[in-house]
Amino acid sequence: MRNKVIAGNWKMNNSIEESVKLISELKQGLNETDIKVIICPPFTSLETANALIKGSQIELGAQNMHNETSGAFTGEISASMLKSVGCKYVILGHSERRAIFGESNEFINKKVHKALSENLIPILCVGESLEEREKNITKDVVKKQLLVGLDSVSSDQAEGIIIAYEPVWAIGTGKTASPEQAQEVHEFIRTLLEEKYSKETAEKVIIQYGGSVKPENAFELLSQKDIDGALVGGACLKADSFLGIIKAVKN
Ligand code: PEP
Repeated sequence: MRNKVIAGNWKMNNSIEESVKLISELKQGLNETDIKVIICPPFTSLETANALIKGSQIELGAQNMHNETSGAFTGEISASMLKSVGCKYVILGHSERRAIFGESNEFINKKVHKALSENLIPILCVGESLEEREKNITKDVVKKQLLVGLDSVSSDQAEGIIIAYEPVWAIGTGKTASPEQAQEVHEFIRTLLEEKYSKETAEKVIIQYGGSVKPENAFELLSQKDIDGALVGGACLKADSFLGIIKAVKN
C-alpha cells in the first residue's frame, strides 16, 4: 500500500514574507492525515521554511540542484547545500528545466546520482509535449526519460525515488490529462520499472501526476490505481487550493 504524496512546486514565486504567510496558513489548515505533504520553495526561502515546518507534517524539497559537489558553477547550488538547509527532496528534470535550460536526460541522470549519494530523494519528472502526444510518441518519450534518468540506479535506490509524470501540455495551461489518460501512462511507467527492476520494486515507487491539478480534479485523478500523489504548480501558491487538493485525496 503506497501512501499518497502531495508536493507543491512554488517555482520562482514568494518572497520570504510571502513564504512565511503561506506556510503558516498551510500549517493551520492541515489536520494530521497520513498523506505526505512536501513544499518546494525557491532557494531563498528554504531556510525560513525549514524552521517553520519543524514539528508539522510538512517536509521540504528544492526545485533543482547541480550534479557537481562544489566549484566554479556560478548561480548553481549543490546537493549538500540543500541538505544543510533541511531539504529531504529535490525536483529533478522538471519540464521547465528541460525546455528553458536545455537539460538532457543524461545530465538529469547525473543529478539523480548526486542527489542519492547525498541522501536526497529525487522527484524525477518525465512527460511528453503536445507535439509528441499528437505524434503518438508519448510512451517512447517517457520511456527514454525514465530509463536514461534512472540509468545505473539500483533497485534499492529506485524504491525510494518519486517519479512525477507531468504531460508538458497540461502544465500551467489549465488543461488536465483525463484520469484515464494519466492512468495509462502511470501504468506504463510502473511496467517499465517492473521490467528494469522487479514487480516488488515497481510496486513501491511513488508515481505522482502533475499538470493543472486543482481541488476540483484531484480526487478523480488520485483515485486511479497507479496515481500515488500529485506534483502541484499553480494551485500550491494559495493555501486554500493546496489544502483543497490535500483534502480531496482519498488515502
Ligand atoms: C508543475 O509545474 O510541476 C505543475 C504541475 O504546474 P501546474 O500545476 O501549474 O500545471
